Amino acid sequence: EAAIAIEHLSKTYAGGKQALDDVTFVVPRGQIFGLLGPNGAGKSTLINILAGLVNKTAGTASIWGFDIDAHPRNAKASIGIVNQEITFDPFFSPAETLDIAAGLYGVKKADRRTMELLRAMALEDKAHAYARTLSGGMKRRLMVAKAMVHSPPVLVLDEPTAGVDIELRQQLWAYVRHLNDQGVTVVLTTHYLEEAEQLCDRIAIINHGRLIANEPTRALVGMA
Ligand code: ADP
Ligand code: ADP
Repeated sequence: EAAIAIEHLSKTYAGGKQALDDVTFVVPRGQIFGLLGPNGAGKSTLINILAGLVNKTAGTASIWGFDIDAHPRNAKASIGIVNQEITFDPFFSPAETLDIAAGLYGVKKADRRTMELLRAMALEDKAHAYARTLSGGMKRRLMVAKAMVHSPPVLVLDEPTAGVDIELRQQLWAYVRHLNDQGVTVVLTTHYLEEAEQLCDRIAIINHGRLIANEPTRALVGMA
């Protein structure tokens, strides 16, 4: 079964802009899957539909076998999403940030993985510091940890390395690979071909709201 299955998905915003036009693809379980496309292609729209932030105009989407309309709770429980914006309180610590997020998801105290997640993202030394004192890379890693508090099988990252220098970008890739090694299916959007090539098992390309390719990375870059 698929981690994510999208069929005939379309979105036309109020005002008439068609951001997605009949998009169909499957994200296989266990992979790092890249959704590649230029600015304005429709990547964020697609992610926001999965996140429940944007209503689709037509088509279906399911996460871990749960249709987002028929089983929204189960679908939501199966996915962790990291948007580009920082969405934690700078005057809480990373440990508090994860505890609050876990509480929102109804994760019982005994089942919380606060320190485990902080260790995995190399934030344990900062566990009890104000989040505002974290470096840019640490803040992004805290956003990843926050998305994982309910242990979803799928992690989605929307432009995880936009505006990030090459060193920090490669550091972030290592953490993404680490999560994938532990069994998490990863979907990331990017407009960097190099990033998709180096990180992803499979790449789908979207342009003007249409899917124009969906191939194993090796086939796409001609090394097969
Ligand atoms: P609704 O869910 O009611 O359709 P939207 O989320 O589409 O509302 O946003 C309302 C309005 O904000 C849109 O009609 C559009 O004019 C404007 N808007 C928001 N984001 C963008 C964007 N990225 N590009 C163009 N217009 C936008
Ligand atoms: P990407 O993430 O690939 O840069 P987006 O999904 O943000 O692309 O945008 C796809 C298209 O939809 C763009 O033309 C954008 O301006 C438009 N758009 C995005 N959000 C809205 C909105 N809320 N209202 C109207 N148009 C929007």
